[in-house]
Amino acid sequence: MAKLNPFEVAQQQLDKCAKILRLNPGMHSFLRTPMRELHVSLPVRMDNGSVKVFQGFRVQYNDAKGPTKGGIRFHPEETIDTVRALAAWMTWKCALLDLPLGGGKGGVICNPKEMSQGELERLSRAYIREVCQFIGPSKDVPAPDVYTNPQIMAWMMDEYSKITGKNQFGVITGKPLSIGGSAGREDATARGGMYTIREAAKVLGIDLKKATVAIQGYGNAGYYAARLVEAFFGSRVVALSDSRGGIYSKEGLNPDAVREYKLKTKSVIKFPNTKLISNEELLELEVDILMPAALENVITEKNAANIKAKIIAELANGPTIPEADTILYKNGIHVIPDFLCNAGGVTVSYFEMVQNFYMYYWEEKEVHERLDKKMTTAYHSVLSTSKKYNINMRQAAYVVAVERVVEAIKLRGWV
Ligand code: GLU
Repeated sequence: MAKLNPFEVAQQQLDKCAKILRLNPGMHSFLRTPMRELHVSLPVRMDNGSVKVFQGFRVQYNDAKGPTKGGIRFHPEETIDTVRALAAWMTWKCALLDLPLGGGKGGVICNPKEMSQGELERLSRAYIREVCQFIGPSKDVPAPDVYTNPQIMAWMMDEYSKITGKNQFGVITGKPLSIGGSAGREDATARGGMYTIREAAKVLGIDLKKATVAIQGYGNAGYYAARLVEAFFGSRVVALSDSRGGIYSKEGLNPDAVREYKLKTKSVIKFPNTKLISNEELLELEVDILMPAALENVITEKNAANIKAKIIAELANGPTIPEADTILYKNGIHVIPDFLCNAGGVTVSYFEMVQNFYMYYWEEKEVHERLDKKMTTAYHSVLSTSKKYNINMRQAAYVVAVERVVEAIKLRGWV
């Protein structure tokens, strides 16, 4: 099978929404493509003395509602079309959560697993030197994403501050706490997802205390999701995975023990007293809640019919392709779509921006309460829209988000 192009997936999703909303053709085609993008090449001195040139991107998809916002991914298989898709999803995500922000995304083609800390620092700084004219606290504000973390954000913030000659904490979010980070940012993506799962369970009448959970991916989102789903609801995580494979235990897994093991061995696989399973098998397990928390395009027309979960909580961006959506909807599976389910990250990033501008920092409890309110409101606006139009949750999320972006574009007189 040819590799699915995530940008085509994002465009197909938008096309469906354009039909439902009867968007005029001018508006529709404006929303189908990014407003701006920058391609950069980054020469980096490697530890062995050679110079390696990396390719990087930053896409500003739409800024009608405010400065663009979205993470930077470091991934060996990054492509411009993936970044475009992710930037589009950020646009809808920020609008759905009613944040005064547009959507953007960045990426660098590299394999951080094979790079030293020094090489990663030089790459991060090189990226900022090349995109510094393009970004800024009121223009475009990056953040962490796949294989980037608070340390990388710190280097990037520092480089931007050095170039501009002043401390500019607000240029990037997901920073460490001691240099302008927000309390509650670290687990925000997973925590936001929990609030939506709580609401969905109420609606569906699922007792989360008895629920079993499978999580695909054990990075920031997956790890915190495993911890929180136990801590919040007392649910049992029976399966976890990473890029090398998965583990299953009927009795349940201890998220922190697995995390420690992964830090030592670089993978969750072969964790003691577990059964080895593949990533594909994990998706089809008999569980109540399935959380894809890794990469895009994992739920397709090939496996959608085999999924047994009652709720799919999409912590990853773009895990489900449109053909699969149709099957899941027909089978009555409640999908909490990505740009709703994983919006906790950018929501707390927005709180971080506010605190940076304000120069005054909130307690963690305040962050959690504000996040809960945002996520709960967004969940119910999607649910009621899905009922009103008789459409699935993803289409409903699009309807809510796109209407808001369209309104901003019209008010600004662009289209
Ligand atoms: N990378 C995260 C996302 O996909 C967070 C973006 C942000 O905080 O700006 O939503």
